[in-house]
Amino acid sequence: NLLPFSLQVRDEEKGYNKNLFCIPKHYEEDLERVFIPHGLILDRTERLARDIMQDMGSHHIVALCVLKGGYKFFADLLDHIKALNQNGDKSVPVTVDFVRIKSYCSTYSLVFLSNLKDNLFFYLFQDIIETGRTMRALLSKIKDKKPRMVKVVRYKDIATNRHIQIIWVNMYFLTDTGFEIPDKFVVGYALDYNEYFRDLNVSTCTFLHCQVSGTY
Ligand code: 5GP
Repeated sequence: NLLPFSLQVRDEEKGYNKNLFCIPKHYEEDLERVFIPHGLILDRTERLARDIMQDMGSHHIVALCVLKGGYKFFADLLDHIKALNQNGDKSVPVTVDFVRIKSYCSTYSLVFLSNLKDNLFFYLFQDIIETGRTMRALLSKIKDKKPRMVKVVRYKDIATNRHIQIIWVNMYFLTDTGFEIPDKFVVGYALDYNEYFRDLNVSTCTFLHCQVSGTY
């Protein structure tokens, strides 16, 4: 099976009443429903960490976080991987690194927080893969480093993009993904709208007040 496993959120999924969860006061007016509760994200992340650990072999790994959207997913996954490293039968040395990617129209600016060495084993952690352009921009830079392996870990895939991913399987490897969601704009769990909502634990996709863009 070439397609990675994921927790699939169905198109007709309506999410949960936000009043059942702790939402910061400053966002209460803006959000309508909770789409993926924080506990579910953490449970899924824990399992992803176990699968990734099994996949890693015994090589020294560079875990590269794509900022800013990937930071929560990266931090939680790394916490689980650390716990497995501490308590499991085997352990894998992991170095962490960061890259900040911004896009302007169709060009991408990439700032690496440190110089990456050649011939390493990479795991890249991105928040969402939608068209795949951001990841392609990153992969073309990583290629210059003559990597011995590149794997891409995602918090979420948009359900319609699977065909794009299969093309990549030829050159790069996709691990299982966190969630596969319908093609909706989501915020929370480090994903933003104009830099807001990163400080929200749950993942939510519906805005009650679309003046959000004007307010923030
Ligand atoms: P791609 O280059 O694959 O089309 O887009 C990926 C980037 O777009 C992600 O890293 C993320 O920053 C942004 N993005 C895509 N979909 C969403 C979404 O539903 N919500 C938010 N907040 N950002 C998204």
